[in-house]
Amino acid sequence: MDALLERLRAGLPAEALITDPDVTASYAHDMASFCDAGTPAVVVLPRSVEEVQHVMRTATALRVPVVPQGARTGLSGAANASDGCIVLSLVKMDRILEISPVDRIAVVEPGVVNATLSRAVGELGLYYPPDPSSWEMCTIGGNIGTASGGLCCVKYGVTAEYVLGLEVVLADGRLLNTGRRTAKGVAGYDLTRLFVGSEGSLGIVVKAVLALRPRPPQQLVLAAEFPSAAAACDAVCRIMERGHTPSLLELMDRTTVRAVNAMASMGLPESTEALLLCAFDTPDPAADLAAVGELCKASGATEVVPADDVAESELLLQARRSALPALETVKSATMIDDVCVPRSRLGAMIEGTAAIAEKFGLTIGVCAHAGDGNTHPVVCFDHTDPDESRRARASFDEIMALGLELGGTITGEHGVGVLKKEWLARELGEVGLELQRGIKSAFDPLGLLNPGKLF
Ligand SMILES: Cc1cc2nc3c(=O)[nH]c(=O)nc-3n(C[C@H](O)[C@H](O)[C@H](O)COP(=O)(O)OP(=O)(O)OC[C@H]3O[C@@H](n4cnc5c(N)ncnc54)[C@H](O)[C@@H]3O)c2cc1C
Repeated sequence: MDALLERLRAGLPAEALITDPDVTASYAHDMASFCDAGTPAVVVLPRSVEEVQHVMRTATALRVPVVPQGARTGLSGAANASDGCIVLSLVKMDRILEISPVDRIAVVEPGVVNATLSRAVGELGLYYPPDPSSWEMCTIGGNIGTASGGLCCVKYGVTAEYVLGLEVVLADGRLLNTGRRTAKGVAGYDLTRLFVGSEGSLGIVVKAVLALRPRPPQQLVLAAEFPSAAAACDAVCRIMERGHTPSLLELMDRTTVRAVNAMASMGLPESTEALLLCAFDTPDPAADLAAVGELCKASGATEVVPADDVAESELLLQARRSALPALETVKSATMIDDVCVPRSRLGAMIEGTAAIAEKFGLTIGVCAHAGDGNTHPVVCFDHTDPDESRRARASFDEIMALGLELGGTITGEHGVGVLKKEWLARELGEVGLELQRGIKSAFDPLGLLNPGKLF
């Protein structure tokens, strides 16, 4: 420990190092339940690429594991510390280095908060689409680490589609440049894409070139109430089948609606079994919402209410963004699942989840990026009750098994981390897993980067 600190201090300013165990302990976890975390030896908050390189060279020389972190809003334990590790928090590297309206790119450091970037590019008439509900807190580095999605991804796609190039510090301290800042480019293997979703296991992202779009008109939202989740899912299928391009298509079940009302007094309709929110940012959103409203009625919607204006639309979005925090207040603990199925199987997924909740005698609220088939079943339980905790874990696993059975994936956007390690092996199969391990060891032969995650 002394040798580690001495060597780190040689290349870092004093304020970049935290050694007080009470403070370092607060960096041990992200926001996931049921994920083991170790005790960090030290937390480092670098402000430059050179400082990150110094940390990695030190770690390699002394064989110390390194856990990169952004804002720790992750929901899979991917940013959890391991015993004796260096926690490398990138939050102080938070400069927007460039915004180019001509090239339609932004160049940023990893600690930039998603919403800060969105607002900065918005002032120039540009748009950075990936918008996780945690956008006011989470960082671009974390978004790249987990390949984040969000509310508008149904129309604009996820983080992977916006990362053009990266600067990465490798495990041994070398600096790697991947990708491009051009509109096109196919030189060599796509290492940029490989880093997106790699959960800090291949290198430390210290700079990113991100694609921007022209800012679309402000969206208008419609809320539709359904007597069952199946009817709401039927509406989702109709909307997509007819070729509509909503900028948001989100579902909240009754448990979620009630939790949001209880936490934030949003006045959402509590008698509905499922509330569907659909938005358009097209030139004539009112006409598109009217057409979608008819499709919702054909699927059995009992009430279809288009928002009057942008302000009312924003309130509905706020309600959806507060779904996960609201469900966290239902009981003392939650396990948030993230199963994504083909859109056509969404109804089966949600009905199956309800059956699992009944089987285990648990409350499982579901909110979903319905247009993407990406469900977030949230298992609400009392963590002081061992039996209920055991049932919560078992139901969580059954939900993932159901997702795979329906042709889906165990994680649409939250990542594998510690939480879903066993399940990754099941989804990838033996050959896939072997190749992925080979890639990991090509980048990080000593296994120092975020050990114990993914595999
Ligand atoms: C209320 C709430 C709502 C959420 N909604 C969404 C949502 O809609 N969509 C969604 O996708 N997620 C959502 N999330 C999950 C979470 O916010 C995202 O996964 C987010 O991308 C994590 O960013 P972070 O900065 O907190 O990263 P962290 O949690 O700190 O880290 C995430 C991963 O990235 C790695 N990492 C971080 N920085 C770097 C770096 N510079 N270089 C290399 N690796 C790095 C870490 O090691 C870790 O593996 C939500 C979370 C909460 C709490």
